[in-house]
Amino acid sequence: MIDLLITGATIVTVNPQREILEEAALAVDKGRIVALGAKQDVETRYPMAARRIEARGRIIFPGLINTHNHLFQTLLKGLGDDRVLSSWFAQMTAPSAVHLTEDDVHTAALLGCLEGIHSGTTTMFDYMYPHPRPFLTDAVVRAMQDLGIRGVVGRGMMDTGEEFGVPRGIQQDVKTIVADAQRLLETYHRPGGRMRIWLAPAALWSNSRGLLSAVRELASSYHTGISIHVSETPFDRASTEKLHGLGEMDLLEGLSSWDLTS
Ligand SMILES: [Zn+2]
Repeated sequence: MIDLLITGATIVTVNPQREILEEAALAVDKGRIVALGAKQDVETRYPMAARRIEARGRIIFPGLINTHNHLFQTLLKGLGDDRVLSSWFAQMTAPSAVHLTEDDVHTAALLGCLEGIHSGTTTMFDYMYPHPRPFLTDAVVRAMQDLGIRGVVGRGMMDTGEEFGVPRGIQQDVKTIVADAQRLLETYHRPGGRMRIWLAPAALWSNSRGLLSAVRELASSYHTGISIHVSETPFDRASTEKLHGLGEMDLLEGLSSWDLTS
């Protein structure tokens, strides 16, 4: 007897032929899909199941992947949504983020991940950039582990950008950021498992050249990924040019040739 048999559903297979099967069935045993296909074929092969779901009119599809999220902002939904991005960040999100506690972040991440799970998301990328106090990224990891969702947590970072609206209270120095990113990578990063740690400089106008170089070095040595906001609005381009004296793409391209000790 298998654990679960779902019958009558429309199944979006995402196989190489991109087949969509109507009136199909799916058999699950010990947490794995053991058969999928025409209802009659699967039922003949697995006539006995501990649980059976009649799913006519419903759709089965592979888990969705959310590739960009700031789970702490689940607590700030709807605030400042009439503002352009730079004003929304400088006047609402960043000042609010200064007050975040571990409990806030854990609760926000639980809620945000639950919302994702309810809409079919099985992998969540979170971009945790404000660090007014230590261990806030750990709170996101903990929430994902509590729920069992597959997680990619970007250790966000900002070490400058006051003139563009980044409060001092959510900036950290390069040494602190690098040490914490290493700690997170060594504690939680499991490429074959459910949790990965990436590096996530918030934007080019909120990170110094020295920090961006350190990120590149760290990502190479841990074979992990980088996520960064680039060219979301004209403000990003103008601020990056003001801080670094270069356009965003030129700056990123030049990253590969920077002196890593500078
Ligand atoms: Zn974002």
